[in-house]
Amino acid sequence: MDVKSQIIAGGNDHDEVKGKSVKTVNPPIYQGSTVLFDDYADLQDANSGIYPGVTYGTDRMPNQRCFEEALCALEGGFLCRSFQSGISAISHVLYAFLKSGDHILVCENVYGPTASFCRRILKKYDIDTTFVPGTVGANISTHIRHNTKLIFLESPGSNTFEIQDIPAITGIARKLGIVTVLDNTWATPLYLRPFDLGVDVSIQSVTKYLSGHSDLLFGAATVNERYAEILASYYQTLELFVSPQDAALALRGLKTLAIRLKQHESSALEIARSLEPHEKVDSVIHPALPSHPQHDLWRRDFSGSSGLFAFVLKGQYPDEKIAAFVDSLELFGLGYSWGGYKSLVTVGRYDRSDSRIAGKTLVRLNIGLEDSADLLNDLQRGLRCLD
Ligand SMILES: *Cc1c(COP(=O)(O)O)cnc(C)c1O
Repeated sequence: MDVKSQIIAGGNDHDEVKGKSVKTVNPPIYQGSTVLFDDYADLQDANSGIYPGVTYGTDRMPNQRCFEEALCALEGGFLCRSFQSGISAISHVLYAFLKSGDHILVCENVYGPTASFCRRILKKYDIDTTFVPGTVGANISTHIRHNTKLIFLESPGSNTFEIQDIPAITGIARKLGIVTVLDNTWATPLYLRPFDLGVDVSIQSVTKYLSGHSDLLFGAATVNERYAEILASYYQTLELFVSPQDAALALRGLKTLAIRLKQHESSALEIARSLEPHEKVDSVIHPALPSHPQHDLWRRDFSGSSGLFAFVLKGQYPDEKIAAFVDSLELFGLGYSWGGYKSLVTVGRYDRSDSRIAGKTLVRLNIGLEDSADLLNDLQRGLRCLD
């Protein structure tokens, strides 16, 4: 054999050593476009679409399949698909379920880029969006038109944490054949089971708690049996895929989700409770606190709370004061996204009808895995810079 052929032929046995299979705890990373068939019969089966195995790199490699299977089981759904980011999962779900002439309802406190996608992109395809209050509940029926095809919910809503009455909405939607989608990133399937509440499609920004280490972008959509074929065939037709490395990291993150989330939950609650009576804090917006306006809905539907919440500053401060506060924090990084082990802070003002929020300065905290007393000290020290 010529050396050129020898190079290509050599070193290809990678799933066993001396007749013994190699089984690492985590799946090996399947980096590949071409997947080799065992024989001509398998190739023929692939050509006629009946080959049961993986036919090609875009046919969902084992890393992606393992992650999807694990998440699907947690969500209690029927089928799960991975996307390159949370917003990619959201936009593709909307494309998969909508067509020109449709109308959709989206809660106004939805993740900002989701709203932008509806306004800027769906609009181009003649799909109309009506934004409804984050607490619309059964009043959703007053917004439904003859061509309303989908309702997109997020609960708690981004930044302002309103809790939506999900079963009231899904009950109405189901009777009318309207698809319901829930962005369940905050609670994760551990603290809210969307399918038990009648939701048809559950979205996760895996970037957040599921992966948990702020080192990748990843998204997932899980559907019930009724809508599984629509999502599966859309996904297959577009030959969407994610990188096997990212899928492996996502699966690794998922393994420690329960224990991380428990710590995020208890630290965030401790800090939220301690901030409530603080002289510079007008209110703390955390669904698990009895002071939250929809606390009863949270208690009814959720089995836990995660580490992201906000507090509203009493009074108005000039930017220099806010800068002095935020820049003085030693343990809180200043940056977007959340759900990782490092604590983060962002500051914003939000256009909401709720008088606790309208026109006020909201400080959003991602409580990470640092010691909660250290985090609280850091915040209390920081808040003194507002004087
Ligand atoms: C971050 C986020 C997304 C988008 O996730 P990416 O992976 O960053 O694209 C979607 N929904 C919610 C609620 C989010 O917080």
